[in-house]
Amino acid sequence: MSESGKPTLAVWKFASCDGCQLSLLDLEDELLALAGAVQLAEFREATSGVVAGPYDLSLVEGSITTPHDAERIQDVRRASRALVTIGACATAGGIQALRNFADVREFVTAVYASPDYISTLETSTPISAHVHVDFELHGCPIDKRQLLEVVTAFLHGRRPGIPSTSVCTQCKARGLVCVTVAHGTPCLGPVTHAGCGALCPAYNRGCYGCFGPMETPNTAALVPRLRELGLTERDVGRVFQTFNAGAEPFREAAVRDG
Ligand code: SF4
Ligand code: SF4
Repeated sequence: MSESGKPTLAVWKFASCDGCQLSLLDLEDELLALAGAVQLAEFREATSGVVAGPYDLSLVEGSITTPHDAERIQDVRRASRALVTIGACATAGGIQALRNFADVREFVTAVYASPDYISTLETSTPISAHVHVDFELHGCPIDKRQLLEVVTAFLHGRRPGIPSTSVCTQCKARGLVCVTVAHGTPCLGPVTHAGCGALCPAYNRGCYGCFGPMETPNTAALVPRLRELGLTERDVGRVFQTFNAGAEPFREAAVRDG
């Protein structure tokens, strides 16, 4: 708690694009109420003001890609009563986890004129690979309504009401016609975590898995259907190697079937 008696909220950035932090600022209708209910102790995207810890709730965006960040996340964990990771970078390593399938030194040599100055790890890993995480919120970016639910839940000491089912359940809830059945469009909805409200199928597009794997996804059953719809082995490998390439079920499918 802060001196004002309000719970303290800290927002931390690791290797990421800032898009998930911006989801908090994007809560236009609720932002003033939220700002009045907590003391913002650390949120560099929004304010230069900093309040020393400990913090009642830390939201962590981004993956661990440098030795310095591997140490910094330990400090954040020690200073946080509850730690929630937000987004595909923090929960699965993000698009930068594509390095996990290659030799990062080759990338560094190809991209930087003076690679000796670059200090980076061989892999991009989620926060949960380094410290205990109290809750993971998926998406690239996360959904702002789900973020509000998670913050509200932790401030009230209850579990967040976030479904662990697939995008398909959200299609059904919205009464959307299945894009695969009706149009033969390849779709990762059956194995992807719910949360976006079936955004892509609502526009007659297949899901490409930006919310990462749902709980117990059956990728082995989906892949033959994707192949029937015209995807080559290489295509299958590529659809599972995007924002959540480092999430184990998608990594496994890419290696097994790609
Ligand atoms: S999960 Fe996506 S939107 Fe969020 S920080 Fe990472 S790249 Fe950006
Ligand atoms: S339908 Fe799939 S790709 Fe589209 S926003 Fe939702 S989870 Fe992301």
